[in-house]
Amino acid sequence: MNFGLTSEQEAMLHHVRTLLDDVCPMAYAARCDEAQKPPREAFDALARNGWLGLIAPEEYGGAGGTPTDLALLLEETGNHFEELGLWLFRNFTYGCYAVLKHGTEEQKRRIVPGTVKGELSFAFALTEPDSGSDAAALRTRAVADGDDFIINGRKQFTSGMDIADYALVALRTNDLGKKQLGISTFLVPTKTPGIEVRRIPTLGQHAIGTTEVTFTNVRVSRIALLGKLDEGWSICEDTLRYERLCLSAARIGAARRAFEFALDYAKTRHQFGKPIGSFQVTQHKFADMKVMLDTAQTMIRRYAWLMENNQAQRADTAVIKYYIGESYKTISDMCLQILGGYGYCMEYPMQRFFRDSRLATIGGGTSEIQKNIIAATLGL
Ligand SMILES: Cc1cc2nc3c(=O)[nH]c(=O)nc-3n(C[C@H](O)[C@H](O)[C@H](O)COP(=O)(O)OP(=O)(O)OC[C@H]3O[C@@H](n4cnc5c(N)ncnc54)[C@H](O)[C@@H]3O)c2cc1C
Repeated sequence: MNFGLTSEQEAMLHHVRTLLDDVCPMAYAARCDEAQKPPREAFDALARNGWLGLIAPEEYGGAGGTPTDLALLLEETGNHFEELGLWLFRNFTYGCYAVLKHGTEEQKRRIVPGTVKGELSFAFALTEPDSGSDAAALRTRAVADGDDFIINGRKQFTSGMDIADYALVALRTNDLGKKQLGISTFLVPTKTPGIEVRRIPTLGQHAIGTTEVTFTNVRVSRIALLGKLDEGWSICEDTLRYERLCLSAARIGAARRAFEFALDYAKTRHQFGKPIGSFQVTQHKFADMKVMLDTAQTMIRRYAWLMENNQAQRADTAVIKYYIGESYKTISDMCLQILGGYGYCMEYPMQRFFRDSRLATIGGGTSEIQKNIIAATLGL
């Protein structure tokens, strides 16, 4: 395994970084967060420059990039604005990866080119009010009606639903004893009559955030079905694995930005006649954070390599999701402490990292569930 980047990857990083420095500086991210406004201008700039097609094959208008390329792009995007990274991740995971891997040719041709151009956005609706960690216990139902299905029920925490064109929705289509059986996944157009979306006020993730979605007699055509009827749970699991690569990459980028901001601050803020970075207790905080960041980056590169070589196991995904989520949370907390009272002020950016990072150990599967998965693979 080679840890170095190819010259194409170096050039890609340079291009993305320069573009994002221009269209997504920290002040822009702060404005989007404060105004609760999606970073549309930055998203459109990435689309115009072809980045939203990174992983799609050339025949669908994409660049045929690898999981390592994707991790690099999302890390850099997350470094500028985590929520922009998460918007991209949803499109890559549900609008490209899931459709390309599990969709029919008709679905690929109908959806992927629009995703690549940034004309379509996506959400994932798995969680329900009574099924979070126990996601397979979901109850929202799709019942066949001729060539259509009728959906009734409620989804909780469907992020980005209010800016999405399609939601990948996991639905109960049959009762077959075991809860993982009888689930199907549908690509539901979000403007279908009978869908009601309510934004949920949250601690962080204010620019795009999350929603509650109610389905009342929502009629979708059979062509919305992704994969085989009643066999959607394996698609959910597969998609969650891909999601955890993307989320983790974006979060390393965000953690690195909090670290860099605090480092600059520690070098210039003076107390007792010295920079606060000259106190050993502060230096040790930075040393601990540097170890976490380096470990996280090595883990993500390794995981992307495993994916490229079809060797990624369930526990590998849980390991990165757990470690990187916890590290991001710890790093943003330490950085806030380094800024002292200014870390606590809304006029400084650290509070946004602190608020946003709190989700990293919850969304996409809690840290406890990741540890359960890891332990189960140890035969416990
Ligand atoms: C801002 C936000 C965005 C989100 N975005 C999406 C999205 O886009 N799509 C989507 O489908 N979902 C999304 N989620 C849902 C998220 O994945 C769930 O919140 C998460 O999986 C936990 O489910 P829960 O909140 O119902 O908590 P619960 O499952 O009720 O868990 C509560 C606590 O109990 C612990 N616990 C539960 N079971 C076990 C166990 N077996 N062993 C040990 N501990 C356990 C949990 O770790 C947690 O600490 C989002 C959530 C938030 C807050």
